[in-house]
Amino acid sequence: MTQKEPGSLSLNDALQVLANDSVPILAGGTDYFPALGEKPVPTQLLDITAISELSGICKDSQGWHIGATTTWTDIINAELPAAFDGLKAAAKEVGSIQIQNAGTIAGNLCNASPAADGVPPLLALNASVELASVNQRRRLPLAEFINGPRSTALAVDELLVSIHIPAISDDARSGFYKLGSRKYLVISIAMVSVTLAADSNGHLSDVRIVVGACSAVARRLEALEKTLLGLSIHADIMSLITPSLFDELTPIDDVRGSGEYRKTAAHQIVMRLILSTLRQLPQHPKPSINSEGQHS
Ligand SMILES: Cc1cc2nc3c(=O)[nH]c(=O)nc-3n(C[C@H](O)[C@H](O)[C@H](O)COP(=O)(O)OP(=O)(O)OC[C@H]3O[C@@H](n4cnc5c(N)ncnc54)[C@H](O)[C@@H]3O)c2cc1C
Repeated sequence: MTQKEPGSLSLNDALQVLANDSVPILAGGTDYFPALGEKPVPTQLLDITAISELSGICKDSQGWHIGATTTWTDIINAELPAAFDGLKAAAKEVGSIQIQNAGTIAGNLCNASPAADGVPPLLALNASVELASVNQRRRLPLAEFINGPRSTALAVDELLVSIHIPAISDDARSGFYKLGSRKYLVISIAMVSVTLAADSNGHLSDVRIVVGACSAVARRLEALEKTLLGLSIHADIMSLITPSLFDELTPIDDVRGSGEYRKTAAHQIVMRLILSTLRQLPQHPKPSINSEGQHS
């Protein structure tokens, strides 16, 4: 917003601007400016980074609220329960440290890239987004907010103000793995996030498995989740993770990999991530893996 001093913009001011004009919203700019390409920078931008109501992470009786302008670095540095380890691992994979310092969690979601690293771990945390305009506030499950590649349910007069994560067991554990063609500054070929919890008898009571970059929008593998829910963590879980459970993925062929390669990779990554997450579940003997990668 060009007319005000930095720091003086309130959320209400910003929503009023959006109600009156179609002004592009700018957070860290790490998606916005590269996407402009050769086009000139608009004369007016709504820079939301100084709006204090949009920053920070807090907890209440319903769960966790992550402000829209929370950066990936903020997430990495935040004290969060173990169930957020997958989100933290994803934050460390976004671009480089400079990108993590500027790029925000809401910018990642609103940009709605099929390869957005924030989406799988947030789906695995059952996240929803809070959207605000001058007239209303509404909350949408993340899976309904992103409705296609580069497409969201955000109305032109709305801001994404926060991400809500429902309360989750202290015993839940999560992980994230991103497969790329090199270690740093890489766009995903496939990525997976897993959240697991077991009850006091050692049976899986919460199973959430999300694959990204293998369909138009990252998605939970519901058939696989149902197969694993209720199983003892000592069961031969790996042998139940069969290729047919990945049929709901529809990966494309592109320069980074063929669809067939992506699907095979997703299968392997899911197996490894489930195994490593099972091993982190508290109070239960740890499953082991032999040198051929087989569960034993
Ligand atoms: C070199 C480089 C490497 C990158 N690597 C990765 C990577 O590894 N993984 C990955 O996932 N991404 C990567 N990105 C993309 C980008 O850094 C992330 O998606 C980042 O989280 C975007 O946040 P931002 O605040 O910069 O968004 P911005 O660029 O400011 O905004 C992105 C879009 O969201 C809209 N928007 C932003 N905030 C809001 C809001 N609160 N309400 C409504 N609309 C909003 C903007 O209008 C814009 O359309 C990379 C980018 C670069 C330049």
